Amino acid sequence: MAKLYIVPTPIGNLDDITIRAIKTLEEVDLILCEDTRRSKKLLNHFNIKGELRSHHKFNEHDEVEIIINKIQKGINVALISDAGTPGISDPGFLIGRTCLKNDIEIECLPGPTALIPGLLVSGISADKFVFEGFLPIKKGRKKRLSILSSETRTMIFYESPHKLIRTLIDFKNTFGSNRRISLSRELTKLYEETLRGTISEIIDLCQKKKPKGEYVIVVEGIE
Ligand code: SAM
Repeated sequence: MAKLYIVPTPIGNLDDITIRAIKTLEEVDLILCEDTRRSKKLLNHFNIKGELRSHHKFNEHDEVEIIINKIQKGINVALISDAGTPGISDPGFLIGRTCLKNDIEIECLPGPTALIPGLLVSGISADKFVFEGFLPIKKGRKKRLSILSSETRTMIFYESPHKLIRTLIDFKNTFGSNRRISLSRELTKLYEETLRGTISEIIDLCQKKKPKGEYVIVVEGIE
């Protein structure tokens, strides 16, 4: 019986691909990816010659039944995203759930994702944590922040450079100036950098130097 393989890919450092990820991508009949040009480069680097098909947030609803049909006919499919683990702030949930509804097995390979290194270099407790990903941009943002204001677990967020300052200011208003946070960019890459401090200190640093790169933000929970 064919299945769906969820295959994480590097978030920067290509050495982070796993041997199993390479083997799986070589063995499957079809590889679903967000951006075929970008994934082609990755596959070429590892000399993997699989067939690529685009599968992203704008076409996944139209594509999902077609893919399910293919798997039911015996075609083994792998899902990758632009970077990291599919389904983590990336497409993956819909196809995974639809496979399960159709009694198709899914297998997820462990591998790169930004939230775990971001959490572990933060110096903030990893004992209990909650992954929030990207905050809603407009609708629902205030409500989400208000719910999180009483969160006792460590919180992990994703953010892009142009929204970073706005998000940090919202954090200051929600969690207070003195709450401890960390800000990691370019994780696993040559210029990996993590800033640690109170929310006010980090805002000061970011206002002095224009934010660049994609960020993992870790916020300490309320005591
Ligand atoms: N699927 C990915 C994962 O498993 O982490 C996340 C994809 S999401 C579209 C992209 C976001 O992940 C970025 O905006 C950033 O917040 C975070 N991210 C990805 N790579 C990163 C890196 N090398 N350093 C810091 N943050 C990163």
